[in-house]
Amino acid sequence: MSYLPVKQLLQTEPGQTVTVKGWVRTKRESKNAVFVAINDGSTIHTIQAVAEAGFLPDETLRLITTGACVAITGELVPSQGAGQAVEVQIADVHIYGPADPEKYPLQPKRHSLEFLREIAHLRPRTNTFSAILRIRHALAFAVHKYYNDNGFFYLNTPIITASDAEGAGEMFRVSTLDPLNPPKTEDGKVDYSQDFFGRETNLTVSGQLEGELGALALGKIYTFGPTFRAENSNTTRHLAEFWMIEPEMAFFELEDNMNLAEDFVKTVIRYALDNCADDLAFLENRLKEEEKTKKKEEQSEMTLTEKLRFVVDNDFERLTYTEAVEILRNSKPAKKGQFQYEVSWGIDLQSEHERYLVEKHFKKPVILTNYPRAIKSFYMKQDDESAAAPGPTVRAMDVLFPGIGEIIGGSQREDNLEKLTTRMAEVGIADEAIWWYLDTRRFGSAPHSGFGLGFERLVLFVSGMSNIRDVIPFPRAPKSAEF
Ligand code: ATP
Ligand code: MG
Ligand code: MG
Ligand code: MG
Repeated sequence: MSYLPVKQLLQTEPGQTVTVKGWVRTKRESKNAVFVAINDGSTIHTIQAVAEAGFLPDETLRLITTGACVAITGELVPSQGAGQAVEVQIADVHIYGPADPEKYPLQPKRHSLEFLREIAHLRPRTNTFSAILRIRHALAFAVHKYYNDNGFFYLNTPIITASDAEGAGEMFRVSTLDPLNPPKTEDGKVDYSQDFFGRETNLTVSGQLEGELGALALGKIYTFGPTFRAENSNTTRHLAEFWMIEPEMAFFELEDNMNLAEDFVKTVIRYALDNCADDLAFLENRLKEEEKTKKKEEQSEMTLTEKLRFVVDNDFERLTYTEAVEILRNSKPAKKGQFQYEVSWGIDLQSEHERYLVEKHFKKPVILTNYPRAIKSFYMKQDDESAAAPGPTVRAMDVLFPGIGEIIGGSQREDNLEKLTTRMAEVGIADEAIWWYLDTRRFGSAPHSGFGLGFERLVLFVSGMSNIRDVIPFPRAPKSAEF
């Protein structure tokens, strides 16, 4: 007797006695037999276990309900049913944990995503979420594989940090002081010298600054860790806790950075296409059903896998921010003929603009470069003044994806100490706050570049889901933290 995951059992030759362990999805009784479908999370598929009517004791039969956890032993035999090669001829049933059908929230029917978000503790037991979680796993593995294959070192940057890479003020504070009654200095301010680290600290919003330290020592590094932003944006693209992948490379200029970003996302998506075919097929079908409920003009022209293949097989469009603004100013989006936010050189592009460029104008992923200096972070390398842009720009790049908008933000980094500190002074960052960062420009500075990819936005794109809360096992967003 052997115990194998359902995924392997389904590919095992009939003839041997096996045990399947997992959760009952459905039980169906006919005049002559009872059919139990069991899933154990190893695959989207269930394996069917069959017993002749009357074979199972009544009490056992009663406890085999949707959601119950069971071990079923019996001979693996060729299946008569369609769509499956083998099934288990039940000889013995052990019930690990029954699930009262009156109370178990997951029934054998399709539940709405909204409902499943409310029972996030059980949704991994559904087909949709188990498929997403397996795809998420495969993508995470592909990320590590990609960087390992390309000579990068995995660098762990601090989660609790005193630096604020983005300066966007979206930080969660970390403190051991009594929040209601903190110690005060003589002039009435909170006395952080009594705090655990002796100064104000927060959860990291990005590992980039520390990542740069790694690149300027090890050459090529990447981080892949949790990131926290207390942004009050209740969008379908933002989480308060998300995972970010941040490669940082010495001797890479902006062009090399773009090439890496494009090759990287294509390679990991290809990995998912090659290794998650069953789960992608399931999600694709789910989407097809959803599409049918939409108006004709809003229906997608491509299926999920067609969309993924298209991204993998075609060059991304590359243009400057300035060129993009020209296109947007001359375009007539949708029927209303205008964007909600008017476009002029210098604005931070909104997701409606990004998605117009990607979905309507170019109809493919786009890399936008050379953004106005004023709307980007202090650490981005300043472009030489150029007649091609109406104001100062930096060597930034954002990768924009259909249905998502920004999936990657990156840049070549400013490697000139004087330019960097001048810019810091302009935006109000004291040299002392990141003296260690400035040291890398003071001693052995080198051209270098990097970017950040929001892992959940990648999973969102690959799974075809439309809300970022549905592609992370335990979503954290404003007013939601069950765990
Ligand atoms: P956005 O414009 O969408 O708010 P951003 O420009 O603030 O993103 P960056 O600081 O450039 O984000 O971070 C790099 C990447 O991290 C983004 O391109 C995106 O993929 C991802 N990201 C940023 N904020 C979030 C969030 N709150 N939840 C999930 N992913 C995020
Ligand atoms: Mg943001
Ligand atoms: Mg942005
Ligand atoms: Mg960005």
